[in-house]
Formats: sequence, structure tokens, C-alpha cells
Amino acid sequence: MAKNRYDAIVVGARCAGSPTAMLLARKGYEVLVVDRATFPSDTISTHLIHPPGVAALERWGLLERLVATGCPSIHTYAFDFGPFVISGAPGTGDARVAYGPRRVVLDKLLVDAASEAGAEVREGFTVEDVSIEAGRVTGIRGRDKGGQPVTEHARVVVGADGLHSLVSRAVVPEQYNERPRYLAGYYTYWSGLPMNGRFEAYDRGDRNWAAWPTNDDLTLVIVGWPIAEFEANKKDIEGNYLRAFERAPAFRDRILAARREERFVGTAVPNFFRKPYGPGWALVGDAGYNKDFITAQGITDAFRDAELCAAALDASFSGARPFDVAMEAYRSTRDGHVLPMYEFTCQFAMLAPPPPEMQQLLEAVHENQEAMDGFARVIAGVTSPAEFFSAENVGRILARAR
Ligand SMILES: Cc1cc2nc3c(=O)[nH]c(=O)nc-3n(C[C@H](O)[C@H](O)[C@H](O)COP(=O)(O)OP(=O)(O)OC[C@H]3O[C@@H](n4cnc5c(N)ncnc54)[C@H](O)[C@@H]3O)c2cc1C
Repeated sequence: MAKNRYDAIVVGARCAGSPTAMLLARKGYEVLVVDRATFPSDTISTHLIHPPGVAALERWGLLERLVATGCPSIHTYAFDFGPFVISGAPGTGDARVAYGPRRVVLDKLLVDAASEAGAEVREGFTVEDVSIEAGRVTGIRGRDKGGQPVTEHARVVVGADGLHSLVSRAVVPEQYNERPRYLAGYYTYWSGLPMNGRFEAYDRGDRNWAAWPTNDDLTLVIVGWPIAEFEANKKDIEGNYLRAFERAPAFRDRILAARREERFVGTAVPNFFRKPYGPGWALVGDAGYNKDFITAQGITDAFRDAELCAAALDASFSGARPFDVAMEAYRSTRDGHVLPMYEFTCQFAMLAPPPPEMQQLLEAVHENQEAMDGFARVIAGVTSPAEFFSAENVGRILARAR
């Protein structure tokens, strides 16, 4: 067996990878984190961080740094359904607000935090293969910034390498709860579109869009349409994007008075869970579990994975629990937490009209501030959809509306 130079090698240094590396390094482990990207750099992703993700940054001592970048906080989520608007506070006692930092800002901050914690960070390093000996992952093979071939070994290789994870392709994990792509989304950034601390989402049949403030006095606006229109609409992305706003004239007027500052970026993603561990390997973030971006859960989920996976690896490395037992606890906690939101997200991403009972419930919610805050906290990932849409809670909301 190869000699291990590291306890863990983390492939991918963004929302899932850098926090995993940081948390393991803070526990005193030898950690290498590699990414083919260099930082600061952007990636295809909008970047609303719901209050539970903000709470993670605070726990890690990184929130002050984020605030210092000038990124405005978001205290209100407003969901405009046309005939009515549900407007509520997404936060809780320990995290009252959300933030929408540019990935170029957020990811750099996370990489720096991993490095400061003692993890060795190699940027511009492309992993080309995973070393497997006798059915066990033992390390990585890749090329450094200068193109030189490099091999490294570790007790565990953590794939934090995103949706198209090379680590996952090498270990072929069990994949479950798979759903197709439902939605295509395109976004860009606007100046002169003030949001005053609000995240706004608009639901207009087969068009859905959202806007929120980010760094540099810019506002991000993302528009979604059904996957069936993905190819055809590529011929005129700007026209299709702007035509969506005709369905909400007040918003259309605001955006017509604003100025577009960047190009359009867009994509569509599949929905799946992967078993996030096996002999010598683990998966965190999008590599292990992906869902449509319509509910903006990915960054917050990646942060949670980092904490759960790092704690499980610590338990295994320290001998407190066998690897499989510790990692199965990571998988079951992850799945138990995210499954109701996963179902809700897939449903929402279909852009189908809500069934009549849901329509009736949403109308009742909008007449009741406590229920509106509750709905905002569902989208924020604070309250589980299973709890909010329970027969008991729905009965209570409907009874108050009568
Ligand atoms: C259009 C869109 C909008 C979104 N909006 C939101 C939102 O508003 N809020 C939210 O919370 N989430 C959002 N998400 C989801 C969010 O982007 C992801 O969940 C999040 O980026 C996952 O982080 P990650 O670290 O797992 O993966 P990534 O951010 O994808 O990072 C993976 C890293 O791995 C590196 N890598 C990959 N392969 C290799 C290799 N072979 N060698 C070396 N390095 C490698 C890549 O260079 C990359 O830096 C959105 C996603 C999309 C597509």
C-alpha cells in the first residue's frame, strides 16, 4: 500500500471543498485541497445564501469577512404570485438575514480560510484520475499548475468537485431518487435596480424569476423557463429573458430603468442523490447530491455537508467510530434533512400551476403574517416543508383565514 502523506485530499475548493478542508485542518489533520481553478474566480451559479448558510459562516468565524466585502444583507423574502404577494422574514434567532455574495468573493474567502487553518491549497491543479488499490481509493493523479504530473496519497479522498465530479465517476457510487432536468435558468447583473434588503421572486405560470442584491451595488436577476424550451430559447436568450417581465409590469418598469452590466449565463441541472462514501473516499456538495437551483439551497447544503462529513471523518480518523458507521451517519443525516426540500424543489421546478388545495393555502398564508414568515422560512431552508405543509399546520392556517 502507498504511504499516506495526507489524512485527506479534497478535490475542489469552492463551497463544499474549502470548508471541509478548513474544518479538518482545524482539527489538526494533514489536508491537501486542490482545484483546477485559481482564485478569485467565478463559476456558473447564482449565490443566495439562506440564513442557515449564513449561520455556518458565523460559526466558522467568517461572517465578518463577508460583511466587510460590502455585500448587503437581505431581511425579507417576497413571493409575488400575481393576485397576491407572500412577504416574510426568512431568518431565525441565530441568523436573521440572508446574503447574496458574488462567487468570486465568497469562494476566495473560503479558500483563504482553508489555507489559514493549515490546509495545503494547490490552485491550478487538475485531477485526472483517482488511484485505487485492491478496491480502495488511495490517492489522486493529476497535473500541477505547470503541467507536471503529480501523484499524492491520503487515507481518504474527498470529492468536492461539483456536479460532474471526477471522483464520483471513478468510484461509481449508488445513485438514487433521480429526477430529470426540469428548468433552464439564465441570469445576469443590473445596476440601478435597488432591492432595499429584499429578495423578490415572481411566479407567472411557465416563467419564474428572482432578484436580489449582491456586491458592488449590483442586483442579480435570474429567469427560469421549462426545460422543453431550453434549446429553442437559446436562439434569443435576451429576448426570452426580457419578455418574461411583461407578466409583471411593475417589475418590468424597474428593470427597463436599470442597466445590464454583464453577459447572460445559464444552464439546467439534473436532480439526484449519491451514496457519499465508500472505501477510502467521500463526496460532499454537488458531487454527492444535486437539486434544481430554483430554491437556491446548494451553497447552504454544501456548508452542511462540509460540517457533517468533516465530523464523520474526524470520528473515523480518531478511532471513535468505524469509518462506515461514521459515514453512514453523515449520509442518513444529510438525506433526512434534505429530502423534503428536494421533493418540494423538484415540484416547484416543474413550473406547473399549483393544485387547487395549494392555491387555497397560499392565499390563506398571505392573509397571515406569521404564516408568511413561516413560508419564507421554508424557502430559506430553516423550516422543513414536511413541517410547514403538515396537516396540522395547514389546518391552522386555513382555519384562521375563514
Ligand atoms: C444556475 C445556478 C444557480 C444557482 N444558484 C444558487 C443560489 O442562488 N444559491 C445556492 O445556494 N446555490 C445555488 N446554486 C447551486 C450551487 O452553485 C452549488 O450547489 C454549489 O456551487 C456547490 O458547491 P460545490 O463546492 O459542491 O461545487 P462547485 O461550486 O461546482 O465547485 C467544484 C470545484 O471543483 C473543481 N473541480 C472539478 N473537477 C476537478 C478536477 N478534475 N480537478 C480539480 N478540480 C476540479 C472545479 O474547478 C470547482 O472549482 C446554483 C447553481 C446553478 C447551476
